[in-house]
Amino acid sequence: MPTTYQQLLEATIQHLQELKNHGARFVEVAPETLAALAQPPRASTVPRPVAPRGEVATARPGTEISPPVRSTEKPAPDPSLSISSADRQVKEQAMAELRARALVCVKCSHLAASRKNVVFGVGDAASPLMFVGEAPGADEDVQGEPFVGKAGQLLTRIIQTMGFTRDTVFIANILKCRPDTPGQSAGNRKPTPEEMQTCIPYLHAQIDIIQPKVIVALGGVAIEGLLGKTVGITRLRGQWQTYRDIPLMPTYHPAYLLRNQALSEKRKVWEDMLQVLEKLGRPISEKQRGYFLKA
Ligand code: URA
Repeated sequence: MPTTYQQLLEATIQHLQELKNHGARFVEVAPETLAALAQPPRASTVPRPVAPRGEVATARPGTEISPPVRSTEKPAPDPSLSISSADRQVKEQAMAELRARALVCVKCSHLAASRKNVVFGVGDAASPLMFVGEAPGADEDVQGEPFVGKAGQLLTRIIQTMGFTRDTVFIANILKCRPDTPGQSAGNRKPTPEEMQTCIPYLHAQIDIIQPKVIVALGGVAIEGLLGKTVGITRLRGQWQTYRDIPLMPTYHPAYLLRNQALSEKRKVWEDMLQVLEKLGRPISEKQRGYFLKA
């Protein structure tokens, strides 16, 4: 398996090559990023290009484009055990640049006109665990952060019960803007296929940067956006799927659990999360194993 460093390096080389092909001779690079890139590269296995999709950054005078030199001197550390500060810095920088592009996106002109904020995503750009939902609702639109309304508070509790915090996972949506509801003063609507197709490159790029060990897809729209499957979530939940070699666990959207308060439904979601913890190699306490079982 290529290391995260190698994957990002390949993506960077490809991105710079594309800029060069379009006539750019310089790109602006922050001094910290240059310092991080100056660290010796690690041993290469089979490089896998994972170039972020979507628009490219604007080239500005600064640093001449030339692909970094690769070396095969040092063995790569197991990326699942730890992440070096250089790797983390590269991911955070890439995520910050992607966020900057998403925040000014006007590809869906109707959503750009109606939104209060672009809801890019929140959390750790180097997290092993990523949650993907559908689209921002009214609360998220106001605050510019995913899953902060009632369903979001439930998701936050699930994340905490798993032993994480919102800061140590990454949370994003298929759509980065709230689906507009013209003529309606309240309520949400499902994203259209066109909106999903237009916005999905941002999510793909987020996943390419994070390279999580596990993705949790919350509800049918997340499954449709990531896997192109329109099979109902009831049939898929609890069964491992794969998104570009990354294990993906489909589960119910927390909004469904708010509508259906049955203990059995909560237990289903919790069993899915126990599978996620097992896949991540996280210790599971007896107390955790027993949640939402009948008293
Ligand atoms: N529902 C979602 O799917 N995403 C959010 O951010 C909030 C509610």
